Order: sequence, then structure tokens, then C-alpha cells
Amino acid sequence: MIDSTHFFKGPQQHVGVWTSWLAVTFRRSIESPWLAVVVLLLAIIIFVIDTQTPQPVAVLYAAVLLVAARSGRREWVIWTSLLSVILTLLSYIAQNDGPRFAIRIVAIGIVTFLILRNLAASRFLSEQARLLDQTHDSVCVCDLNGVITSWNRGAELLFGWSSEEACGAISQDLLKTDLPVSRDDLTAILLENGYWEGELLSRSKDGKALTLNSRWSLLRDERSRPKGILKTSNDITHREEADEAVRRSETRYRTIFQTTGVSIWECDISAVRRRISDLYYEGVVDLRKYLLENPNFVREAIDLTRVVDVNDATIRMFGARTKWDLLGPMGPVWPVVGEQAFAEAMLAVCENQPIFETEATLQTIDGLRLDVLFTTALPPEAASRETIFLSLVDITSSNRARLALQSAQADLAHATRLTSLDELTASIAHEVNQPLAGILANGQAGLRWLRRDTPDIEAAIVSLEKLVGDAKRASSVIGGIQALARNEAPKQVRLDLNDIVRESLVLLDGDLKRCSIELFLDLTSSRPHVRADRIQVQQVIINLVVNAAQAMSDTHDGLRRLRISTSTDGSAGTVKISDTGPGIDSNVRSRLFTAFTTTKINGMGLGLSICASIIARQGGRISADSNDENGAVFTFSLPIHEDENEF
Ligand code: ADP
Repeated sequence: MIDSTHFFKGPQQHVGVWTSWLAVTFRRSIESPWLAVVVLLLAIIIFVIDTQTPQPVAVLYAAVLLVAARSGRREWVIWTSLLSVILTLLSYIAQNDGPRFAIRIVAIGIVTFLILRNLAASRFLSEQARLLDQTHDSVCVCDLNGVITSWNRGAELLFGWSSEEACGAISQDLLKTDLPVSRDDLTAILLENGYWEGELLSRSKDGKALTLNSRWSLLRDERSRPKGILKTSNDITHREEADEAVRRSETRYRTIFQTTGVSIWECDISAVRRRISDLYYEGVVDLRKYLLENPNFVREAIDLTRVVDVNDATIRMFGARTKWDLLGPMGPVWPVVGEQAFAEAMLAVCENQPIFETEATLQTIDGLRLDVLFTTALPPEAASRETIFLSLVDITSSNRARLALQSAQADLAHATRLTSLDELTASIAHEVNQPLAGILANGQAGLRWLRRDTPDIEAAIVSLEKLVGDAKRASSVIGGIQALARNEAPKQVRLDLNDIVRESLVLLDGDLKRCSIELFLDLTSSRPHVRADRIQVQQVIINLVVNAAQAMSDTHDGLRRLRISTSTDGSAGTVKISDTGPGIDSNVRSRLFTAFTTTKINGMGLGLSICASIIARQGGRISADSNDENGAVFTFSLPIHEDENEF
């Protein structure tokens, strides 16, 4: 846009412009002082001769102007012209020669005008040349014989030859140009269109191969006859390499995309993104909450997601014939059961999570359900925010295998329970035999007391009470077995371990006496209250005491001592049953608590395994060891009852 203030200036502004112009001129004359001195001297000499002689030397002012023009500056020429006019005027005043003065003034004016025009033209040309040098492209002009006539800075940088080296050389010989079309064809194209563009190969000065994108224009003279070719080229060697790298990478990606066993989907989610941004615009702040309140939106988003590409694995996995069966809206393969997973993935994408993984149920083209592990991956470039990659791994069969495994485990657990039930059934004799033996012995004793000539009613009552106690115990054992068969949890209540020990010993009193066993009780005064099933703990104690008694009954010599102690450490209550028998047989030590482990001729090997399972079911521990008296010591612990309110 032209600023009109340059054309309409006030007098003050004119003064300012002239002042600055004078200042610039003066400064430049200082920059070239010799030229200024020469111009001034010449002008003075011409003036002196012109004034002193009748010779027409004033025409030599034109020479002075030409010298001033060598500075290449307009203002020099104008100043010199003014000086010449002034000096001519002075000569005229001195000689009073009117016609000569007019001719001189006109001559000076014409010369000044021509020089100024020439200067303007040169300046324009040099500006053009400077611009040509500024361009990064190589620009070269050849005549019709291929001789280089012009060679810019870009060409120097690209090919390595300086302008002096290149100008005058035959372009084809210098650059070893390899054209994509024959020279005749190229000439024909240039003559017809005046223009040609294409890629060509050349060599630089150091022999390096260059791939150039070149544009050739036919130059014509003022009569439209072809006079040369303007060739503009830029180096695309590296771009070619980069393009090649991209092509290779694309091929590699395509190969992986197609050959991998994982199903890969490329989806366009631009419509979903737009829809979500509309929601935000409408004031939705929490997208998760919005999805919960508007489940239909998930279905809408699924239908807005467009499948752009899928690989071969996807075609196989989804039972498609070609990939075209799967391209388009994603809805057909995404059933309602998979919507939750889609919503989670959508939220992850909105939060710009680069990777998100979850399981989902999709469906094949034929409507078969597919359990998949699917991963969403956002491309790293922000520009690709509208594209998303899904990779799906079919886990239908592994899910089936997992379900089958769970079912097998359930069956196994049931079978195990049945096995232990079998064991228990087999051990009913073992467990119930003791109370039955007690019932028999006490019943017979009661009868004996009553059949006496003088029946001893008191003694009979004691025997019958013991009989009732044994019967109750037998009944409880049977009840416990039934509970186990029904897989009932033990009736865990708060028990005083000391009381349990004492109650169990009452039931075993006869056995201990019959075997002449000395009993030592060491019950802790802190009364450990454990959480356990009363009858089952009694069963354990009775089993362990009976085992100890049997072990000691084999020892004919020596003491038969049974020590039973209780203790607590605050978290568990412990019972220790120690005997002076032969100790544990090393052959069975490692599998002592395994069913059917026995060293006894009539033994069933079930007592300790029952003890172990009872204690384990109550959350306790049981172990066996040797004691200081070479006998065995069995220890079991049960968790302390923490809830005092249960009583
Ligand atoms: P059973 O009494 O029918 O053999 P148990 O499971 O009760 O079955 O005992 C398994 C084995 O453990 C016994 O055969 C015996 O060898 C050993 N055992 C158990 N208690 C003691 C003990 N107090 N002293 C030595 N060995 C014992």
C-alpha cells in the first residue's frame, strides 16, 4: 500500500527531507573521498578553462557527470549536475554568451537524465541478481547449445562449481545429467509448452549423485525466437531417502499388520470425538457420570466408530469373507454385553491414556460370542487423535478352559470331601468304638452292682451316669460326621481349654487306670479361652491320649507317665500331651498325619489324620515330636477367642 504522506508534505517536512538527504550525501562522499576530490577538481579545471578560453570545453561537464556516475549513486550524479549547472552559470556571467549557455545547460540536463535512468536500470538488475542469489534453488541459464551463461549462488552451493567455473561450460558435460526422457522429446515439450518439470539425476563437482526436482523454462528473445533455457532445480536426494525410509516402514508395518496372529483394527473416532466435544459444550463436566445416566450414548458412540481397516487375523477371528464385511460402523460386532468395556475404553481415550486394556465380549459376523482381551492404543502424534488402533486377542477358549478348570476344581473338592467322608465312615468304628466300649463296660458294671445280693445303688448310678456320658459322646461323634458330610462349618464357640482337657479325661479315666498310667496335669492358671467346637476338640484330646496310652502299654518296663499341659501366648491356646512310650517310629514320622498311616497290627491309621483335619478346620495347628523322656509329645494350638461377649 502506498503511504500518501510521502507525496503530500508540508514545507517543514521538506526542509527535514532535504537536510537528511544532504547529510546522507555528505556521509557517502566521505565514504569515497577520492572520487569526490576527482569530481570536484575536474569540475574546477573545466570551469577555469571554460571561463578563460573560448574553447567549448563546457561539454566536458558530461565527463565529470560520468565520473560521478561511477559511484553508482543517484545523489552524486544530481550534486555533480547541480555543480556543473552552477559553474556554467558563472561562466555565462563572466562571458555573457547566452546561446552557448542554453546549449550547455540542455546538454548537462540530458546527460544527467540518461545517467540517472541508466543507474535506475542497473540498480534494478543488480536487485534482481541479488534476489536470484538469495533463492535456495539452483538457477542456471543455458543457451540453445547447452552452454551455461548464468549460474547463481544456489547452483554454486548445490553443485560445487563457482559461477566463473560453470559459465561457458556445456551443461550436460559438466553436470552429467541423466534425463528421464530423451533430449529430443524434452526439446519438443519445451517448444510446445515452453515449460518442463521432472526429476533428474546429476553429479556434483565432488562426484556425488544428486536427485533433483528440476523446472525448465524456454527463454525467448523480443521476436519470440527461442534463445535459451532457464533451469531451476532443488535437491530432493534426502527427501527421496526419507520417502524410501517411510515406504520401507510402511511395508514393514503392513507386513506385521497382516501376518500377526493378533486381530488389529484401525478405527476412525472423529465422529465420537465431535459428539463428546458437543457434550462438553452443552455443559457436561463428568463424562463417566453422564455415561452412567445415559447408557444409550455408549451404543451411539459404538455406531459412530467407523472401522477403517482390519487385518487378516480379524477376518478369520470374526468369520468374515473379506475385510469389507467388517469395515464401516462398529455396531454389528459390538453386542450389548460389550458396551461396558467400550465405555471404559472410551473414557480412557478421552483421558488420553496411550494404552488401555480390558476384557470384552464381542460377536462374530454369524452372531457367535467372542471373549476378547482388547487393547486400545492412541497414536503418539496429536494429529492422529481421530484414529485409534484396537488389538484383540481371542480368549474364548482360554475362558472356556478356565471355567472347565474351575468346574474340575469344584468336582475335585467334592471328591476330596467324599474321600474324607469315606475315611470318616471307615473310622466310625474307630471313633465310636471307644464310647461304645465305655457304654458296655459301664452297663455291665451297673448290672453287677444291681445284681449283688445287696444291690449297691450308688455305685450302679455312677456306672450308669458314665454310660450315659459315653452314649452322648458317641452321639456327638456321629453328629460331627453328619455335619462334615453336609460340609457344615464347625460350631465354634468360646471354650476354656482347661475344662475341655478335664472333661475328656473323665471319659478316659477307666482306660488310664486299666493301663496303670500315671497322669500329670499342668493346666495354666490363665485359663486360655479358644474358639473351637467342643466335641471335636474332645475327639482330638481323646485320640491323642488313647494313642499315648497304647504306646506306653507296649513298654513292659519303666514308667508309664502321661503329662498334659495347657498354655497360652495371647494369640493361641496350646495343649501338650507327652508320654513315656517308645517315641515315634522313624518310618512313619514324615506322614504321621496322613490317613492310613499306622504301625499297629490292628490299627487303621486314621486317628491322627482326623485330628489334623479337625484342628485345621478350627484354624489351629498340630505337630508331633520326641520328648526328653524318649517318648512322644503331641502339641496342638487353637486360636484365642477374642469376642468376650459371646458368653
Ligand atoms: P492308629 O492308631 O490306628 O495307628 P493313628 O493315626 O492314631 O492311627 O496313629 C498313626 C501312627 O502314629 C500309629 O500307628 C503310631 O505308629 C504313631 N503314633 C501315634 N501316637 C503315638 C505315640 N504317642 N507314640 C508313638 N507313636 C505314636
